[in-house]
Amino acid sequence: MRLDVLIAGGGISGLSALHFIRRLKPELSVRLFEAESRLGGTIGTDHEEGYSFDWGPNGFLDREPLTLRLCEELGLDDQLERAGSNVTNRYILRRGKLRAVPMSPLKFLLSDILPLSGKLRVLMEPLSKARTDDDESIYDFAGRRIGKQAADYLVQPMVSGVYGGVAERLSLKACFPVMREMEDEYGSLFKAMIAKAREAKARGKKSGGPGGPGGWLTSFHGGLYKLVERCHELYTDHITTGTGIVSVAGNNDGYDVKLTDGTTVDARHVILATPSYRTADIVKQTSEPLASVLSKIPYAPIAVVCQGFHASNVRRDLDGFGFLVPAKERRRILGSIWTSSIFVDRAPEGYVQFRTMVGGDGDHASVGLSDDELIEIVTSDLDKIIGLSGRASIVKLYRWQYGIPQFRAGHPAVMAEIEEHLSCHPGLHLSGNAYYGIGLNDCVRQSYKVVESI
Ligand SMILES: Cc1cc2nc3c(=O)[nH]c(=O)nc-3n(C[C@H](O)[C@H](O)[C@H](O)COP(=O)(O)OP(=O)(O)OC[C@H]3O[C@@H](n4cnc5c(N)ncnc54)[C@H](O)[C@@H]3O)c2cc1C
Repeated sequence: MRLDVLIAGGGISGLSALHFIRRLKPELSVRLFEAESRLGGTIGTDHEEGYSFDWGPNGFLDREPLTLRLCEELGLDDQLERAGSNVTNRYILRRGKLRAVPMSPLKFLLSDILPLSGKLRVLMEPLSKARTDDDESIYDFAGRRIGKQAADYLVQPMVSGVYGGVAERLSLKACFPVMREMEDEYGSLFKAMIAKAREAKARGKKSGGPGGPGGWLTSFHGGLYKLVERCHELYTDHITTGTGIVSVAGNNDGYDVKLTDGTTVDARHVILATPSYRTADIVKQTSEPLASVLSKIPYAPIAVVCQGFHASNVRRDLDGFGFLVPAKERRRILGSIWTSSIFVDRAPEGYVQFRTMVGGDGDHASVGLSDDELIEIVTSDLDKIIGLSGRASIVKLYRWQYGIPQFRAGHPAVMAEIEEHLSCHPGLHLSGNAYYGIGLNDCVRQSYKVVESI
């Protein structure tokens, strides 16, 4: 078989690459190979007893035009479900109690999220010392600019909520480049936020949305897997499931791609949208040094414990997005999302659904615990924090041994090395969440860039 483009991996990265090729370059012959019998990678939704449980991601922020364009071009825009308006309330655990994350400077001053000394230190942000380390950790950056208490209680839990990561280990430059740019351009995050709010006002827009940092959490009625199902339906003639890529080796005009069914395909371009540790194996024959750098990108394991309860068995009003747990609070859970408050159709009437995360880069052991142990940890922590009575009416558990790539300090240099090696192999492309951003939006954006470059 001779192809213009071969795509490896049927997660969001591979599927969006396939979509953009079909849309932008329909003259190219293309086929996507997925090793598993199903598409989606970490995206999956189970429907049981009136609940919808997302396996991994449960939505994307509606701030990336390319993701919205993908949804529209797939004919899914009328199926989009945006988070309910009450998700503006977010909570952080401090001294065993949930404290509301204040959404305005005045509310911050009046809040109990930090002690007075911590709040005063945050106010001194414009006077902070300048950066001395070019690839600073998120924790060091936060500590330097807004103080250690805010770093521990505001920044660290946010980092573990998004990355399943440890703020002391992650690179600010790789994870939150915007923060760094704000500091570089305005000399202060406060000044930058004021300037950005003014700019946004002048353009008649709000800077950031109530759904979180810069957008509303968005999914589809019935769960995120709808996106994958629609791609499969539309592009079924261009997809082979149950057949993976073993290796790629350069030939005169492209690559010989060896498949797990023993056949070899000749492709001018190869897009490897597989997790970086798998990509490392695939490219070994073509470039040992590239394989070696790829294999160094670490992943954090994570377990998602979804539980359904009768609403009367939950003592606290679930009036928000959910809560995050700072490492200083010494709990096993990283946080819990009140799924049915965000998307009402995720639980049957009269019931609620929680999605609680355990593990992350700070706790590689928990993901290996038995189902009973994990459920016990989650139920006991939730009981202490929000108050439960009775048993969960349903429990679903999803374990991700290689859950979320970690952009540790040094990641920007790793990416520079990867790009350098890739430049020696024209026609070989990478997409996925291990390189320039871990979210669904990042994956779609990267696949679009790759397709544009073909
Ligand atoms: C618990 C959890 C919660 C998350 N929550 C969110 C969220 O709410 N919002 C958000 O934006 N992001 C979230 N993320 C991140 C998001 O899920 C990922 O960034 C995204 O799904 C990655 O997509 P991908 O296509 O790059 O990789 P994957 O989804 O990992 O897909 C890679 C595919 O490649 C296939 N494959 C592997 N080896 C081969 C081979 N040799 N040949 C062919 N195919 C192969 C795999 O089977 C898989 O299907 C979350 C992640 C996790 C784990």
